[in-house]
Amino acid sequence: FLPHLVASMEDVEVSYIMIKPDGVQRGLVGEIISRFEKKGFLLKGLKLFQCPKDLAEEHYKDLKDKSFFPKLIDYITSGPVVCMAWEGVGVVASARKLIGATNPLQAEPGTIRGDLAVQTGRNVVHGSDSPDNGQREIALWFKEGELCQWVSAQASWLRE
Ligand code: UDP
Ligand code: MG
Repeated sequence: FLPHLVASMEDVEVSYIMIKPDGVQRGLVGEIISRFEKKGFLLKGLKLFQCPKDLAEEHYKDLKDKSFFPKLIDYITSGPVVCMAWEGVGVVASARKLIGATNPLQAEPGTIRGDLAVQTGRNVVHGSDSPDNGQREIALWFKEGELCQWVSAQASWLRE
């Protein structure tokens, strides 16, 4: 562990990023991972996973009263998802920008949803909406031992 390579540890956040079943089925896994990798965030956890219904309901519990909730749960559990934990200073807000607006038709070109999707109900990727939810969601989707503590060889070339 090289502490001098990790800038201002107290600012480091984690975001839970998930490629939804449509992203996996459409062969967009590499493309989506690549955007976070190239940006310069640190991958701490990664797995292909068939999400059980109770986990999907817990993950989206704030939306349980919405009319689209049952369809959302069917969608998220309809096939494997790719679960990721990404770390970095400002990663939560930055990942939301890289992902783009919830409705892909309103998402800017250059964003994942803006480039790769056409409908809210098939918007290919999830990203945590706050640092607290980043922590909560990573604890929900990953077990102990599934996350790696490591320092990227690029660290000192990404942050001064
Ligand atoms: N969603 C939907 N219909 C809606 C709004 C949301 O199917 O009218 C789905 C969509 O997959 C979205 C997810 O529910 O990504 C979570 O909604 P949220 O508002 O949290 O959007 P996000 O944070 O994913 O942009
Ligand atoms: Mg959300």
